[in-house]
Amino acid sequence: MKLIFWLSGMLLSLPTLAQQPAQNLILITLDGVRWQEVFNGADSTLLFDPVFSRDTAAARKQFWAPTPEARRQLLLPFLWNMTAKEGQLYGNRQRGSRVNVSNPFWFSYPGYNEILSGYADERINSNDKKDNPNTTVLEFLNNQPAYRGKVAVFSSWDVIEAAVNEEKTGIPASSANEPTHPVSAVDSLLSDMTSLVPNEFGNGVRSDYLTYFSARSYLKRQKPKVLFLSYDEPDDLAHAGRYHDHLRQLRMIDTWMADLWKLIQSMPEYAGKTAILVTTDHGRGHTPKARWKDHGTKTPDSYQMWLAAFGAGVAPTGEQSGGPVLYQNQVAATMAKLLGFDFKCEHPVGPAVTAVLKTSR
Ligand SMILES: [Zn+2]
Repeated sequence: MKLIFWLSGMLLSLPTLAQQPAQNLILITLDGVRWQEVFNGADSTLLFDPVFSRDTAAARKQFWAPTPEARRQLLLPFLWNMTAKEGQLYGNRQRGSRVNVSNPFWFSYPGYNEILSGYADERINSNDKKDNPNTTVLEFLNNQPAYRGKVAVFSSWDVIEAAVNEEKTGIPASSANEPTHPVSAVDSLLSDMTSLVPNEFGNGVRSDYLTYFSARSYLKRQKPKVLFLSYDEPDDLAHAGRYHDHLRQLRMIDTWMADLWKLIQSMPEYAGKTAILVTTDHGRGHTPKARWKDHGTKTPDSYQMWLAAFGAGVAPTGEQSGGPVLYQNQVAATMAKLLGFDFKCEHPVGPAVTAVLKTSR
């Protein structure tokens, strides 16, 4: 009899083990990166035009290949290897997979609010650095006992501090105008570089590489369970019309993603227990080609975006075809769900993308 109980207990516990959600989550955003580049790699009309790529020979050498599959591999090799092997990528409209912004603005802060709160709030209608009135999934997770004090934000753009409402939530947010409080020689150097090496795109922006290395130093030391890492320069370079530089920035961010993944696989707190979501706040235009520089409601189709997921708890189904239209307001609940939570708060929240999860829970 005891044996039967023991056996049935074993059988019951097996599915539970298989459904073990991720324990840590990293959200990475790349500001204003089109699905067109993610899925097709470099666009020949921009890459070979000296107006957008100053040194077209170098641009061709670095990013050109005859097929979209080969070009995207040149641009984002880590992202493509990871999502093909142990993840997913949504948003290739040529295959009928669509991801859309649902807010009516198609620019940055409304997009970051929608990603983080799961709610397209029409009150967030500018890029002004005003504290977000909405509960974000980061705040929700920080209020869970196992995650309290274990949520951190590193961004290049300082408005992200307001988007996560650092003031109200107490979630530490490091950015251009508020570098991490230095507690080590490495942090002290990074902090000096942030204030003494001005970013070419102005006061509110910290160079993406400083954001990455600041976050990496913090992660090694503090081991946050939830990390939001927000890069900005792809958008600035696109507005400036610098296509080759925009692609080079994407390639670098991909290298940092690979470095981060390698690092966390070497740390017992993260290895095999960490999911990563990668997405963007909005798309950009495409026709005529110079519209690539812009986004917003005056730029057709700049509501189109993409979403990637890989790591613990993510179903390894690779590049997606067809399926329902997904929305930016679904990212927040998907993040919570990967950690085993249902994100609920004072405002409506878009439903989790259950297809991301290894098992529907
Ligand atoms: Zn943006």
